[in-house]
Amino acid sequence: MDKPLIVITGASSGIGEAAARAFSKAGHPLLLMARRVERMEALGLPDTMCRKVDVRDREAIAAAVAEAEERYGPTDCLFNNAGIARLADIGSQDPQEWDETIDINTKGVMNALHPVMAGMKERRRGTIVMMSSIAGRKVYPDHTVYCGTKFFVHAVSESIRGYLAPYDVRVVVISPGIIETEVLHHVTDQTTLKNYKDNKVRIGGGIGADHVADMVLFAYQMPQNVLIQEMVVTPTRQEY
Ligand code: NDP
Repeated sequence: MDKPLIVITGASSGIGEAAARAFSKAGHPLLLMARRVERMEALGLPDTMCRKVDVRDREAIAAAVAEAEERYGPTDCLFNNAGIARLADIGSQDPQEWDETIDINTKGVMNALHPVMAGMKERRRGTIVMMSSIAGRKVYPDHTVYCGTKFFVHAVSESIRGYLAPYDVRVVVISPGIIETEVLHHVTDQTTLKNYKDNKVRIGGGIGADHVADMVLFAYQMPQNVLIQEMVVTPTRQEY
């Protein structure tokens, strides 16, 4: 294998799936993690290990990374992408949705960082791409807990960027606006969903996940001494 291992969380749909295709086309072996393993296997990508992993399970992530590194060598890039968006009116939202969002979008992100950081630091090489959102830069109606988790991602990214920079390890944050994926499929608040969809129609629809995947690949393919610290991408008509 002449190209190094890329690890992607949340690769069973949307942006993670698009990134899996893009990195595979670029010739990389992959470790793909998500709960819907059959969706990742159905992609039929070469030199790809697919593991049914819930990012809330720290041990399961570590075991999958160890298994993939045994087969393909050290992780050169982690795309820390898995996440959910349970948008809702904060006054009436079931706190269980808060727990789920916080556990997946914050603790899940830390769980994925843990098994790759030390090796990158030791090898003085590696790239960590953190999936945030424009909702990690400013707040939006009905995005309360989601915004909280994405602000968390921004804060952690900035902190580990400083920590890892002396070791030549890059930390990139990507902050998309409305991308056409399955991310809103699980929203239970019908008013929130309607407002989101109306806004999407107003701006002419979201953009394709492939564009985000191409940007992640682009940032990764820059020379190791070039760090794109943050990328913000939205549909052109999404003005805020
Ligand atoms: P999708 O819903 O299409 O993809 C989400 C991915 O995350 C799926 O592969 C899903 O896999 C995985 N995932 C969710 N929960 C878990 C879990 N507990 N354990 C493991 N994997 C999990 O949405 P997107 O592609 O849009 O979302 C990807 C990321 O992009 C998220 O972090 C989201 O917040 C972010 N984002 C999306 C935007 C958009 O408009 N689409 C805008 C800004 C940011 P499975 O369910 O099989 O486990």
